[in-house]
Amino acid sequence: MFDKNTIARLQSLETPFYYYHLDVLRKTLEACKAASSKHGFHVHYAMKANFNPLVLDIIREYGFGADCVSGNEVKAAIAHGFGKENIVFAGVGKSDKEINLALDEDIFCFNAESVQELHVIDELAKAKNKVAKIAIRINPNVDAHTHHFITTGLDENKFGINTWQLPEVATALRNCANLQFLGIHFHIGSQITDMEVYKNLCTRINEIQDWFEDRGFTIKVLNTGGGLGIDYQNPDTNSISDFESYFKVFKQFLNVKPGQEVHFELGRALVGQSASLISRVLYVKNGQKKNFLVLDAGMTELIRPMLYQAYHLIENLSRKSESKDSQSYKYDVVGPICESTDCFQKDVDLPESFRGDLIAVRTAGAYGEVMASSYNLRDRVASIYSEE
Ligand SMILES: *Cc1c(COP(=O)(O)O)cnc(C)c1O
Repeated sequence: MFDKNTIARLQSLETPFYYYHLDVLRKTLEACKAASSKHGFHVHYAMKANFNPLVLDIIREYGFGADCVSGNEVKAAIAHGFGKENIVFAGVGKSDKEINLALDEDIFCFNAESVQELHVIDELAKAKNKVAKIAIRINPNVDAHTHHFITTGLDENKFGINTWQLPEVATALRNCANLQFLGIHFHIGSQITDMEVYKNLCTRINEIQDWFEDRGFTIKVLNTGGGLGIDYQNPDTNSISDFESYFKVFKQFLNVKPGQEVHFELGRALVGQSASLISRVLYVKNGQKKNFLVLDAGMTELIRPMLYQAYHLIENLSRKSESKDSQSYKYDVVGPICESTDCFQKDVDLPESFRGDLIAVRTAGAYGEVMASSYNLRDRVASIYSEE
């Protein structure tokens, strides 16, 4: 990913910045497209993972739809040429303003997350003399077996409608004249690499769609959400998720009836490996128990380690050519922000490092740039691309 010429180019730039490996992005999108279209599956890109304008434009070229979680994301999707008929809108707290915007744009589908929301969308649609297309986001109580901070499909989570509320949903759907029921939606968590979890999800979806059909509802859309994980440990040797196996699980275990469409909402798996956060060592602090590398990037540029205890591979690009057997040192790699939690990782094995060395924090393409903040009144940092 970082050859000599690339490192020389990056050396000359002001740090920190996000560096986009656009070839990785394209190869990933191609792999996903090939694996999904084989089964006729529809893939929406979950925009919240990364809404960098160039990234959005490239993703749109591959013909993916958009999965939005705010009114502004709906606007951005449209501005970047995603077809309105391919936009879904999820979110546990859609405001009236956001719902109205999406109604005006005639998007493909609202993923409604509560019975109360169904009534609100119905009323707002009625006022506009429109019919809103909706899917019900159901909480299937399937354990994603990932970090509890990024699990969303259990009864205790705030997302979706729990199955014991389905009779109430059925009544609401019958009574709301300005809603058109398209189908059912699920999203059980993120960074899921165990295919068994998706198999369990398929089983629950099959049961739930039978429940609706037994009560006279027609299900046109089965939306299984996203969450496919990526390899944070091995970004170079395993840069593309196993889309083949992922879609195959749904092909095998989801009971798809004639006329039904299967939809997916992938975020992380499409963009995660496509960027690194590039930073410089500002200071090397040698303590009695700990050695610290203080970088010029921190939680303001990549908050995942601090927010989710997430692992990111850290490399010293300036010492990359040094022999593998040269002595390694342990450093706590920290940022400059005035918070003790502003630490990328403790006890990282690195070659002996010096002020001015260029450091790459890998796999920063998903939930990196989009979560940046100006805390400590820091500058927003640039994005640099592998192709100029
Ligand atoms: C965040 C989100 C996704 C994408 O999740 P990834 O783990 O990035 O694939 C999909 N659907 C919904 C509703 C989401 O909120």
